[in-house]
Amino acid sequence: MTDQAELTRSKTAAKKLETVNPATGEPGKAYDPHSIDDAKAAAQAARAAFLEWRRTSFEQRSEVLHKAAQVLRARKDEFARLMTEEMGKTVDDGRAEVEKCAFHCDWFADHGEEYLRHEPADIGGGEAFITFNPIGIVLAVMPWNFPFWQVFRAAAPALMAGNGMLLKHASNVPGCALAIEEVLHQAGVPNDLFRTLLLPSSDVEALIKDERVAAVTLTGSVPAGRSVATAAGSVLKKCVLELGGADAYLVLEDADIAAAAKIAATARMVNGGQSCIAGKRFIVVRSILEPFEQALVEAMRGYEMGDPTKEGTKLGPMQSIKARDEIHSQVEESIANGAKLLLGGKVPDRPGAWYPATVLGNVRPGQPAHDEEVFGPVAAIIAADHEKDAIRIANSSEFGLGSGVLTGDIDRGRRIAAEELEAGMSFVNENVRSDPRTPFGGVKHSGFGRECGVFGIREFVNIKTVHVKSAGHGTGSRTE
Ligand code: NAP
Repeated sequence: MTDQAELTRSKTAAKKLETVNPATGEPGKAYDPHSIDDAKAAAQAARAAFLEWRRTSFEQRSEVLHKAAQVLRARKDEFARLMTEEMGKTVDDGRAEVEKCAFHCDWFADHGEEYLRHEPADIGGGEAFITFNPIGIVLAVMPWNFPFWQVFRAAAPALMAGNGMLLKHASNVPGCALAIEEVLHQAGVPNDLFRTLLLPSSDVEALIKDERVAAVTLTGSVPAGRSVATAAGSVLKKCVLELGGADAYLVLEDADIAAAAKIAATARMVNGGQSCIAGKRFIVVRSILEPFEQALVEAMRGYEMGDPTKEGTKLGPMQSIKARDEIHSQVEESIANGAKLLLGGKVPDRPGAWYPATVLGNVRPGQPAHDEEVFGPVAAIIAADHEKDAIRIANSSEFGLGSGVLTGDIDRGRRIAAEELEAGMSFVNENVRSDPRTPFGGVKHSGFGRECGVFGIREFVNIKTVHVKSAGHGTGSRTE
């Protein structure tokens, strides 16, 4: 019905989506939005395209995803530049992100069939098996911080499973949103099966309630998660939520302090600190508090602010001036409530959304650096009396996304990671990261459901039981 490469954006009174270069504060390109009527027409066309796509073989879908990986690799520099312009990512990080998307597409192209193959079930006689059928159109509501990765993380397994997708991306990355649509179309995904919709978040609820949309996945903040879950619940649709995090790293007394500080700084500074799985709270056993503080300050000092378009830059701007100001007010309020400023913490006098690498010591309950998610380059150091106390502090957060243990004793690290930390992912002596091969997601207010790996691809399928008996031999069952 709407089978053109780009979905028509009908003229509406709605405001254009205006981009701003975070490094300079200068306006960038502006985009006409879609209307809700455009979106509903796209949902209808996507549903029709899905009814054909679900009949394609794994082999056909795998070919398309491998092609998407090739397109991504071929256009890597262009996409990295786009991310820099729209949300300030350093060009090195942008290139790595595009590579990761390509690896992810290849992974699901190669493993989707194995994850979704019919599974025989032993029911003590007769034939029974389980199928994993696609469920339809998944609405993906995505954030700006990894503008390519977050979308491909959801889209590659969904498409491989035989689903279609409508993308509502964050309002500050419309160019990335349209580029992703172009990659998938170029790779052979039918135009109507995957659509980017440039919509305000106020239209998300109506789209969730559209009968052509089967399910929704959101990566974003807790308030957005609450709205999406409420809307999905009201129409009894499946949702997956990947929300915020305040990842804790335990720094135990037997850790190699210099190595631990390096891992901590790397964990904190992922994407300029703007990552759900950035290390945010470093919970340090008191006997090594001082040397660890010094080592972390030194490691964080190495993240100097610089031009995000230049290779080698370690810290670019924050995504927007508003976001930068929120980070700064969390830092100031923490200091006013007793935190000690050990590094950074001053807004530089220059245009753009700049904020320096910052370290806060003496972080305690009642300070935003302790109680909230700080979405920027701010490391919070919290003292603990011993291992048990450190675990208690780590688990006292409303969040439960990633977590880490830094220790010289691998068995101790393994035990704490596996048994004690309330988080979806726990890493020992390295920083938390997502990987297409292992499940990714959180507990508590970090959300529910998983992406990646076999658990991820099985979120948006109908897990169906099939029992088969020869005709005329049924005896019936008296129980439910
Ligand atoms: P956000 O404000 O929640 O935005 C994320 C997406 O949700 C955007 O597309 C946004 O659209 C939309 N949205 C916002 N409010 C909504 C609502 N009430 N109903 C429906 N959709 C809504 O998040 P952000 O502040 O940009 O991103 C940072 C947050 O995302 C952090 O908390 C971070 O930890 C979390 N995050 C989590 C993961 C994970 O995998 N767990 C990964 C990355 C980020 P507009 O842009 O149009 O408002």
